[in-house]
Amino acid sequence: MESQGLVNARLKELFGTRVRDGASLVPFTTFRTGGPADWLLQTDRPDELVTAIRETAALGIPLTILGGGSNVLVGDGGVRGLVVRLRHGRLHATGPDRVRADAGVTLNGLVRWTIRRGMAGLESWAGTPGTVGGAIHGNAHFDGRLVGDMVTAVGLVDEAGTRIEVSADEMAFDYDESRVKHTSEVVSWVEFAVRSGDPAVLRLAARDSLAFRKRTQPLDRASAGCVFQNPRADDGPLPDDVPRSAGALIDRAGLKGSRQGGAVVSTVHGNFIVNEGTARAADIRALLERCRREVARRFGIQLRLELVYLGEF
Ligand SMILES: Cc1cc2nc3c(=O)[nH]c(=O)nc-3n(C[C@H](O)[C@H](O)[C@H](O)COP(=O)(O)OP(=O)(O)OC[C@H]3O[C@@H](n4cnc5c(N)ncnc54)[C@H](O)[C@@H]3O)c2cc1C
Repeated sequence: MESQGLVNARLKELFGTRVRDGASLVPFTTFRTGGPADWLLQTDRPDELVTAIRETAALGIPLTILGGGSNVLVGDGGVRGLVVRLRHGRLHATGPDRVRADAGVTLNGLVRWTIRRGMAGLESWAGTPGTVGGAIHGNAHFDGRLVGDMVTAVGLVDEAGTRIEVSADEMAFDYDESRVKHTSEVVSWVEFAVRSGDPAVLRLAARDSLAFRKRTQPLDRASAGCVFQNPRADDGPLPDDVPRSAGALIDRAGLKGSRQGGAVVSTVHGNFIVNEGTARAADIRALLERCRREVARRFGIQLRLELVYLGEF
């Protein structure tokens, strides 16, 4: 790795004052806690993403991609190297039944855009925080559906900064799984299949999704949504009358309302940990690990993380 001074000079040369050193990531994560990035670049330009990938490799510093920050916990020690926060970008129809969105477009922005144009298929994702790129990384799920089921093609940038296009079949989508979870590839754009629909009807479906979320999730508190994946069928038998849901297991273990510093297991939804305002990342992580240990001890089920840990704890 080059010296801090040299790295700083090179990043400033490339991105000017838009790259900030020691930038807090608190405003850019929905958990609203955690340490700073060594350097932070916010961009809506696919070419800058390619430059960042090539230059961080050349400089020997780590690169971390952030979307909406709605599925991450940033450690209190912060994130080494360059964090690129992808935001906004282009949205356009590539055919009568296809829409393409840059990775930094928010899922909610995409939903609104398609509804306005009478394009059906994405409306039930209304209210899902984060970006298109983040949704593809973890194959966002809602009401038994996976976002990957709507995808036809994805534009990726590989470690060398080369742009490639892959079909949905090549994305290895599964529950909370995608190819980019296991490679260093970055999602640059995504193409979705849509069909024609009546905007008024689509708006109602979107409203239903939003109302469901309001009823079942603690939306008035800082969180990162569900912290654990739901257990799979081969994870072992569940206690009688407990559904295959991490939140239900946490609830049955009596953990709702448990606290560590300013972090609390939500009383509304057992799979949400909320930051009451003063939680450090270490508090959230300790509480989450307590839930994992307790569920394993009580029911013999090992919960897997849905949340992504970033940086140093
Ligand atoms: C209130 C609330 C409700 C939620 N409800 C749901 C829900 O219903 N269903 C659901 O699935 N999730 C839900 N979530 C979690 C979260 O919204 C989703 O996981 C979302 O898709 C994450 O997107 P993001 O842009 O915020 O990703 P981030 O949190 O920024 O990043 C998550 C991971 O994706 C990687 N990443 C981000 N962008 C890219 C990219 N362009 N290329 C490669 N990797 C990338 C990051 O490096 C990181 O590892 C909820 C969260 C909250 C706070």
